[in-house]
Amino acid sequence: MCAKILVIEDEEPISQLLAYNLSKEGFTVATSSDGDEAMIAVDESRPDLVLMDWMLPNVSGIELCRQLRSRSETRDIPVIMLTARGEEEDRVRGLDVGADDYVTKPFSMSELVARMRAVLRRTAPMLAGDVATFADIVLDRQLCRVRRGQRDVHLGPTEFRLLDVLMQRPGRVFSREQLLDRVWGEDVYVEIRTVDVHIGRLRKALNRRGDRDPIRTVRSSGYALDDTYSV
Ligand code: CA
Repeated sequence: MCAKILVIEDEEPISQLLAYNLSKEGFTVATSSDGDEAMIAVDESRPDLVLMDWMLPNVSGIELCRQLRSRSETRDIPVIMLTARGEEEDRVRGLDVGADDYVTKPFSMSELVARMRAVLRRTAPMLAGDVATFADIVLDRQLCRVRRGQRDVHLGPTEFRLLDVLMQRPGRVFSREQLLDRVWGEDVYVEIRTVDVHIGRLRKALNRRGDRDPIRTVRSSGYALDDTYSV
């Protein structure tokens, strides 16, 4: 399961942008727009990491950070602060009260995600250890990250789960129905050929020119990771 992220940000467009992009990276995202409600949201969503805007109504980012650090249940939740440009002093104060890192607005999404992964690797190494490997492909369930060789592979959440299922049993042939149940859930009605569409996307993201395709299509049966494939 990918890391759960709580976004505490009162500016709706930024909050939506973060929720959209982080979900696309495969993270599970909850949001809160108010400093007062944020602690309730923390208790409810039990996040693996909090992304917190500095300037919040009612309770400031610093105060929230202090509250998080003062309770044993929330003490270890890593915090990345979002600060406005030029608030150098705030950043120092933020790190003083226990924020793990900060990102200056306006930020690039890829930089933010890289910093989040760096913090998660540091603060939750036991979770980051939840890694599956197949040949030159490495899938990290906590960091929601897939690498092939030295390259980062960017997958949507569905492709990520598909690869995760296949990597749990290399060589085993999964029928489309089995993949539907495991990736989409048993109670969800999805057309069977949806599986083919997402396998297509997964292949496209995994394979660059010259790469061997690690996914085998088994005619009239389904899909498997090709266990004759190695590097
Ligand atoms: Ca704000």
